[in-house]
Amino acid sequence: MKLSTTIKHLLSATFAAILLTGCATDGSLAGSRKPLAVLHIGGGASHDYNKWFNEADTAMLNATGKISTRYMEPQQATIADVRNADVLLISANKAFPDPAVRAAITAHANSGKGMVLLHPGLWYNWADWPDYNRVLAGGGSRGHDRYGEFQVALNGTNHPLVKGVPASFMISDELYYFEPDTKGTPITVLATATSKQKNKTYPQVFVVNHPKTRIAGLTLGHDGAAHNHEAYRQLLRNALMWAGHRE
Ligand SMILES: [Zn+2]
Repeated sequence: MKLSTTIKHLLSATFAAILLTGCATDGSLAGSRKPLAVLHIGGGASHDYNKWFNEADTAMLNATGKISTRYMEPQQATIADVRNADVLLISANKAFPDPAVRAAITAHANSGKGMVLLHPGLWYNWADWPDYNRVLAGGGSRGHDRYGEFQVALNGTNHPLVKGVPASFMISDELYYFEPDTKGTPITVLATATSKQKNKTYPQVFVVNHPKTRIAGLTLGHDGAAHNHEAYRQLLRNALMWAGHRE
C-alpha cells in the first residue's frame, strides 16, 4: 500500500516533469516561447530598402518581443538561412542568383512553414522563376497608380490577419494592380483599394490558399508613409504571426 503510493507519487512527479519538459521544448508555456524566427529577404530597385524594409520594419517587428527578424539580400541568403527560418518575409525585387536558394524557398512552403510577400515581392520580378508568382503569390502586379493617397477597405472579415486594423484607412503609397493568376494558387481577398486611374478594385491584403502552408500577401509599403503607418505595421505583424501559427 505504502509502496504503491510512493510509486504513484514518483509516477505523477515524472509525468509532471515530462509535461513541463514538453511544454518548454515546444514553447507552449506562457512566456517561455522563443520569438518567431523571421528571415526577411529584401533588396533591389526603386525603394529605400535599407531604411524602411530593413531598419524600420526590423525595429518595429522585434520590439514586439514575439518576433526576431533577420534581414538580408537574395545574394546573401543561403539554404541554411532559409531552413532556419520559421517564416519567410520576401520584399526583394532583385534576382535570387542561386537556384538552390529558390528551391529552398519552395521547399519551405511545402514543409508547412509560412510566408509573407510584401509590396515589391508581389511584383512579376523574375521571368526565370514563374512558380514564385503562380504558386506562392497566386498572381502578381505589373503596374500601379502614380504614388498618392488612396483608401484601403477591409471586406468585413474577422480573419486574424486584419485584427486591430481599422475597417478602412487612408494611406500614401503605390496602389498595386495585383492580378490573381487564374491558373495559379487561389487567393482569398481580405482588403481592397479602388484605382481611380484604372477605375478598378484590386486586392491589397490577401491569403494565398497554398495547399500546404500559410501565405499572406500585403501590397502596401512603398516608403516611409506606409512603413510608419500604424495600419501597415499592424498588418505586417499580424501577417507574420498568422503565417507562423502564432496568432
Ligand atoms: Zn514601391
